Amino acid sequence: MIINVTEKVVTAELSRYLESATVCKCAQCIEDITCIALNKLPPKYVSTSKGELFSRVDSQMMQQTALDFDVAILGAIEFVKLHPRHTDV
Ligand SMILES: [Zn+2]
Repeated sequence: MIINVTEKVVTAELSRYLESATVCKCAQCIEDITCIALNKLPPKYVSTSKGELFSRVDSQMMQQTALDFDVAILGAIEFVKLHPRHTDV
Protein backbone atom coordinates (compact mmCIF):
# COMPACT_ATOMS: atom_id res chain seq x y z
CA MET A 1 0.00 0.00 0.00
CA ILE A 2 1.39 3.39 -1.00
CA ILE A 3 0.62 6.31 1.25
CA ASN A 4 1.29 9.99 0.62
CA VAL A 5 2.29 11.07 4.10
CA THR A 6 2.01 14.73 3.14
CA GLU A 7 -1.67 14.22 2.35
CA LYS A 8 -2.28 12.45 5.65
CA VAL A 9 -0.53 15.16 7.64
CA VAL A 10 -2.31 18.00 5.81
CA THR A 11 -5.68 16.34 6.38
CA ALA A 12 -4.97 15.90 10.08
CA GLU A 13 -3.52 19.38 10.56
CA LEU A 14 -6.32 21.01 8.60
CA SER A 15 -9.01 19.48 10.77
CA ARG A 16 -7.19 20.92 13.77
CA TYR A 17 -7.02 24.38 12.18
CA LEU A 18 -10.65 24.30 11.13
CA GLU A 19 -11.76 24.05 14.75
CA SER A 20 -10.80 27.69 15.23
CA ALA A 21 -10.69 29.06 11.66
CA THR A 22 -13.50 31.28 10.42
CA VAL A 23 -13.43 29.88 6.90
CA CYS A 24 -16.41 28.02 5.38
CA LYS A 25 -16.29 24.34 6.28
CA CYS A 26 -18.42 22.84 3.51
CA ALA A 27 -17.04 19.83 1.61
CA GLN A 28 -16.13 21.94 -1.44
CA CYS A 29 -14.12 24.47 0.54
CA ILE A 30 -12.36 21.83 2.62
CA GLU A 31 -11.37 19.98 -0.55
CA ASP A 32 -10.12 23.21 -2.11
CA ILE A 33 -8.07 24.07 0.97
CA THR A 34 -6.60 20.57 1.00
CA CYS A 35 -5.66 20.70 -2.69
CA ILE A 36 -4.08 24.16 -2.47
CA ALA A 37 -2.05 23.18 0.58
CA LEU A 38 -0.93 19.88 -0.99
CA ASN A 39 0.16 21.64 -4.19
CA LYS A 40 2.51 23.82 -2.14
CA LEU A 41 4.13 20.89 -0.36
CA PRO A 42 6.35 18.10 -1.69
CA PRO A 43 4.64 14.69 -1.65
CA LYS A 44 6.17 12.12 0.65
CA TYR A 45 5.35 8.56 -0.34
CA VAL A 46 5.91 5.57 1.86
CA SER A 47 5.19 1.95 1.10
CA THR A 48 3.79 0.10 4.04
CA SER A 49 1.09 -2.24 5.15
CA LYS A 50 1.73 -1.46 8.79
CA GLY A 51 -0.05 1.36 10.52
CA GLU A 52 2.64 1.81 13.14
CA LEU A 53 5.27 2.56 10.49
CA PHE A 54 3.06 5.27 9.08
CA SER A 55 2.60 6.76 12.52
CA ARG A 56 6.35 6.88 13.05
CA VAL A 57 7.07 8.52 9.69
CA ASP A 58 4.18 10.86 10.28
CA SER A 59 5.46 12.20 13.58
CA GLN A 60 9.04 12.54 12.32
CA MET A 61 7.92 14.43 9.28
CA MET A 62 5.65 16.74 11.22
CA GLN A 63 8.50 17.82 13.47
CA GLN A 64 10.83 18.48 10.54
CA THR A 65 8.46 20.41 8.37
CA ALA A 66 5.80 21.68 10.76
CA LEU A 67 6.43 25.28 9.76
CA ASP A 68 6.12 24.50 6.04
CA PHE A 69 2.81 22.78 6.71
CA ASP A 70 1.53 25.65 8.81
CA VAL A 71 2.39 28.19 6.12
CA ALA A 72 0.82 26.10 3.35
CA ILE A 73 -2.37 25.33 5.27
CA LEU A 74 -2.89 28.85 6.59
CA GLY A 75 -2.24 30.27 3.12
CA ALA A 76 -4.76 27.87 1.60
CA ILE A 77 -7.38 28.77 4.21
CA GLU A 78 -6.92 32.47 3.49
CA PHE A 79 -7.17 31.92 -0.26
CA VAL A 80 -10.40 29.92 -0.03
CA LYS A 81 -11.81 32.42 2.42
CA LEU A 82 -11.33 35.12 -0.21
CA HIS A 83 -12.19 32.95 -3.22
CA PRO A 84 -14.77 30.34 -2.21
CA ARG A 85 -15.89 28.10 -5.06
CA HIS A 86 -19.02 26.73 -3.40
CA THR A 87 -22.39 27.84 -4.69
CA ASP A 88 -24.63 29.63 -2.24
CA VAL A 89 -27.91 27.86 -1.69
ZN1 LIG B 1 -17.90 26.47 1.35
